[in-house]
Amino acid sequence: MDKLRQAAVAPQKLFLDGTWQAAEGAPLDVVSPIDGSVLTTIEGASAADVGRAVASARAAFEDGRWSRLAPAARKKVMHAIADRIEAEALELAVLGVRDNGTEFNMAYKAEPGSAAGTFRYYAEAIDKVAGEIAPTAPDVLGLVHRVPVGVVGAIVPWNFPLMIGAWKLAPALAMGNSVVLKPAETASLTLLRLARICSDCGLPDGVLNVVTGTGAETGAALAHSTDVDVLTFTGSGATGRRLLEASAASNLKRVYLELGGKSPNIVFADDPDLAQAAKVSAMGIFRNSGQVCVAGSRLLVERAVHDDFVAMLTEQAEALQVGDPLDLRSQIGAVNSEDQLRRNLSFMDMARAEGGHIVTGGARILGDTGGTYMAPTVVTRVTPDATLFQREVFGPVLAVTPFDTEEEALRLANATEFGLAAAVWTGNLSRAHRMVAGIRAGVVHVNTYGGADMTVPLGGVKQSGNGHDKSLHALDKYVDLKTAWIQL
Ligand code: ADP
Repeated sequence: MDKLRQAAVAPQKLFLDGTWQAAEGAPLDVVSPIDGSVLTTIEGASAADVGRAVASARAAFEDGRWSRLAPAARKKVMHAIADRIEAEALELAVLGVRDNGTEFNMAYKAEPGSAAGTFRYYAEAIDKVAGEIAPTAPDVLGLVHRVPVGVVGAIVPWNFPLMIGAWKLAPALAMGNSVVLKPAETASLTLLRLARICSDCGLPDGVLNVVTGTGAETGAALAHSTDVDVLTFTGSGATGRRLLEASAASNLKRVYLELGGKSPNIVFADDPDLAQAAKVSAMGIFRNSGQVCVAGSRLLVERAVHDDFVAMLTEQAEALQVGDPLDLRSQIGAVNSEDQLRRNLSFMDMARAEGGHIVTGGARILGDTGGTYMAPTVVTRVTPDATLFQREVFGPVLAVTPFDTEEEALRLANATEFGLAAAVWTGNLSRAHRMVAGIRAGVVHVNTYGGADMTVPLGGVKQSGNGHDKSLHALDKYVDLKTAWIQL
């Protein structure tokens, strides 16, 4: 581990048409949030560079080097990629932690661990999903083919780059598409390494291109391309809106958005194990410094147990070990960047101004390390019109609001523009089902927070987005339906 954390990282290039190439624009520094040091540089792809990547992906798609390969052959390559991710898991995890600051234990499982599993899952799906024969009149044969869309543009964020990158890449590749992948500028290194793995494992040149750079230049160029058929994105609502505008202004490409949340974690007084609920709820918001799209960032708690529950949760928050993400004792690592930390802290000023009470945290810590760390933060007296109730922080900040009745809990749960995740803690089965039915969200957890695996879809409603990553449903994003109507 020590050797890996100190290993020099060579300056990175774009992965274009199967080769490593310099961009037209100036390189960007990669700053480690662990201690503020410059790890290496990545290229800043210009619109012309992105154009070359899209052209390469299009050429690869059209000549069928991947798109018309037998399913069993595609499956073999994708299994080989999964094997290699597993073989390089330690290197990938440490590199990713140095780049984005997530604590190692979580990163190891969530990044290479999930990415390998995702490639395997969709590898196995390749030869198990089929088209349809429609129930037409007997003098006609109606065939519904599932065909790849062509070129997929994937824009991914910095919190779990490898996992979320794989959620998009693996189903798109499984269905025979070519992909141009744009990592976040503060977490590109593991996805560049994944490109090398894919290439080594036999993914043909041009089928995957990786373009690094800023969102405003590189990402926007991909979004405005007239030769990208589907854009798949995870990130902020503001960027999601820009992507829809870009689609409208270019070629009306399909745009799938997995955006933020302000997910309610609802605790009823009838929950039989409030201590356990407090423990799980603390990790539901604070893991990865709250930089999790499904984080349970609003605690709605029945007034009868409000004070006790807040006390238990605060105790949990204060006991969490925040620190060097490569120290295996750390439970929470660094905030991804100086900009993100500054943004988190600006919410603290707003919370105070709007009557919130910061029970614990609210400040930068471990400043002498040169890294970007923030204390787990609990804010009570957050009213439904407060900024902290309505806006996503994407930091280790929990907003607490009391309620008196089930109806009020449901109303408060749904009183935001978001609809990504939620949780309900109760010992009453009927109440649990009523809440699941009433909460508008992509996932509602009951008596836990945050569990999931590859078999279930992840996606939001309302302004949390559209479409789903994971599960067999994700394949639908990367296929078109084509009908053959044959007169017999
Ligand atoms: P966050 O605020 O969490 O960083 P963003 O939505 O800004 O979320 O970033 C998610 C991804 O979107 C990153 O890869 C980023 O570079 C990219 N991105 C940001 N702005 C744009 C844009 N205008 N067009 C396309 N991609 C963008």
